[in-house]
Amino acid sequence: LRDWDRRHIWHPFTQMKEWEESEPVVIVEGDGSWIVDSEGNRYLDGVAAIWTNVHGHCRHEINEALKAQVDRLEHSTLLGLTNDKAAVLAKRLAEITPSGLCKVFYSDNGSTAVEVGVKMAFQFWRHEGQPEKSRFISFTSAYHGDTLGAVSVGGIDLFHGVFRPLLFPTIQAPAPYCYRCPMGRGTPAACGMECLAELERIMESHAGEVAGLVIEPLVQGAGGMIVQPEGFLRGVRELCDRHDILMIADEVAVGFGRTGAMFACGREGITPDIMALSKGITAGYMPLAATLATQRVYDAFLGEYREMKTFFHGHTFTGNPLGCAVALASLDLFESDRLLEKLPKKINKLKEKLQGLIELGHVGDVRQCGMVAAVELVRDRATKEPFAWEERVGVRVCQEARTHGVFLRPLGNVIVIFPPLAITVEEIDFLVDGLAKSIRTVTE
Ligand code: PMP
Repeated sequence: LRDWDRRHIWHPFTQMKEWEESEPVVIVEGDGSWIVDSEGNRYLDGVAAIWTNVHGHCRHEINEALKAQVDRLEHSTLLGLTNDKAAVLAKRLAEITPSGLCKVFYSDNGSTAVEVGVKMAFQFWRHEGQPEKSRFISFTSAYHGDTLGAVSVGGIDLFHGVFRPLLFPTIQAPAPYCYRCPMGRGTPAACGMECLAELERIMESHAGEVAGLVIEPLVQGAGGMIVQPEGFLRGVRELCDRHDILMIADEVAVGFGRTGAMFACGREGITPDIMALSKGITAGYMPLAATLATQRVYDAFLGEYREMKTFFHGHTFTGNPLGCAVALASLDLFESDRLLEKLPKKINKLKEKLQGLIELGHVGDVRQCGMVAAVELVRDRATKEPFAWEERVGVRVCQEARTHGVFLRPLGNVIVIFPPLAITVEEIDFLVDGLAKSIRTVTE
């Protein structure tokens, strides 16, 4: 398997030379919060199958729903038809997302969910007779996916810089990365959220030009699990209202319970104009995505045939009944497991365990928002000097963690903790203890 993998799989985000020199672990089974390799080793899945898994691997109830759907209908199309599972799921998504989001556009992954939102916002203003509103505001260190539209609104130069000549230019606003404040201020309590004031200055200097603002609510994921201060998201919503800019919330990573609430926007009591969902929508089982929009956005696309107000975007597997059946089974489990009600205990356990990491010599910052956390490792805590990229400290810590039965992935020098929401408090102990030992071994 390793040989075939090495010869034929082009892995995403992988430095090919280093990958080829490494011994890949071949995962063959999943069970609850655990994944099992071809040699029978078990690892606690600290990344929830790349931020997707909710109820644990191979949940019986979801498996059964998938099997039942396979025997009824595997796929048809939403072009000129609908299907029962897509219709029921759309209704339920409209019920559970922040009030006002009522139209569901299906696609296949997080990147396309965001891209759909960007295209909707762009076209919306043309139909509203304001075509000059055609630009987008996005944030530094934002990640919205890897298709060209999603990369255009991204802000991570390491990933996106090489494609710059292919992208449409966006207006970048400083992200509230409080540990390394872009405005040169201190803690959120003391700074008065100068980054929000800066965002307003940016909006004013581009008055009448901006179609939409794209944001990862509460936590910027791939940029380093950067947790926004309370009130920031609400402030962004207010500014978008004041300047008549559509707010596109990318809940691809934080949706479906990750922050402790079903949706991150719900935690700050706001409704975006457009919301992108994927990853957790099928609890990590399969590709499915949804972009939700308000009635106001949808209505702008209604018109006579000749007016050509159509939203010209669509994917072959849009509204796939297998994906929708699995998503429905996952929503049922949220209810029957009382998953959200059980989260505060786990969130507190994680918080308590993370306290122990703050003591470690090379831990600069520990951030947490609900069931997502990150540990930023630095060479020098006093100056916040980072470890050099070439030292690959994050990679080495995660490799060491495997020897303690924990699978984690770094984002540079940031170690991400993003387990299935079904993780138990005992497993949280195991995970953070394994991480602590690994940080000590590598950095001390
Ligand atoms: N948006 C966010 C916030 C994400 O975290 C990701 C994936 N990490 C994406 C979009 C892209 O999703 P996908 O990889 O499914 O295209």
